[in-house]
Amino acid sequence: MPISPWRALSPDNGDHYLAFERRFRYVVEDPEHTWRRVWIPTVIACPVCEADTGLRLAYMSGVDAVVEAACPVGHTWVETRVDVSQWMAYCRFRAGSQEFDWLWLIEAGFGEEPPPPIDYAKELRTAAGEVAKYGKRKAKAKVRREVRKVKKKVRNEAMRPVAAVLRTAWAMQSGGVEPVKASRRRPAPKPPKTPPVSAYRKAYGVQAPEKGPKCLACEDSGQITAPGISVPCTECDGPAAAALAAAERRAERARQGKDERRPATSK
Ligand SMILES: [Zn+2]
Ligand SMILES: [Zn+2]
Repeated sequence: MPISPWRALSPDNGDHYLAFERRFRYVVEDPEHTWRRVWIPTVIACPVCEADTGLRLAYMSGVDAVVEAACPVGHTWVETRVDVSQWMAYCRFRAGSQEFDWLWLIEAGFGEEPPPPIDYAKELRTAAGEVAKYGKRKAKAKVRREVRKVKKKVRNEAMRPVAAVLRTAWAMQSGGVEPVKASRRRPAPKPPKTPPVSAYRKAYGVQAPEKGPKCLACEDSGQITAPGISVPCTECDGPAAAALAAAERRAERARQGKDERRPATSK
């Protein structure tokens, strides 16, 4: 009688049904040990095709007399080697109930074979791959960070004039002094300033020399005078012309806006 694949494990309702991916083992008592019980796990296989994985075992309380088994191909057989009470206990264990009296059965190796041990080498390879990926991500993040930094710098450069305007506006708003617009470049060192001669004279208390006449011939009088004669100076244009020329020079400077010595409110 084929076992329905749609049955569910329900020991409380009498349905002791399980399907196994891995091999199923029942236990037989080791006859060589007489002073204590030792169990030998034994693998079940289909008597027809010898399949030992993908088997299904079933026992319905009150209906079946023995445990029935089926292989993936569809062969069914009566599995008399599996003890009914042990099978039912294992089904209750798989259903989640903890029965101290039956722990020995699980420890003896009854039931589906445990999953293969974790392949640590494979795990490590996977982990290494993950780490490498993580590292790559980190490296990428670093590059992105650098790019962001550069972008920020560029933006700061672009915003500098605006920032300066804002700073000035803020300073003026708060009644502060307009900040000096200092170039970021280090100013070129100024050549040592030589004080004017007048400063030395002042420092040493030296009297400035009397200014001699510009025209040595007429001594700025415009006339060459000697006993008996008086003629207009032939070396200069005379004091009137000199005064006119000086006035003309001053006017020229004023026109060019260079005459800063003259106060604007002299009138
Ligand atoms: Zn089979
Ligand atoms: Zn003269």
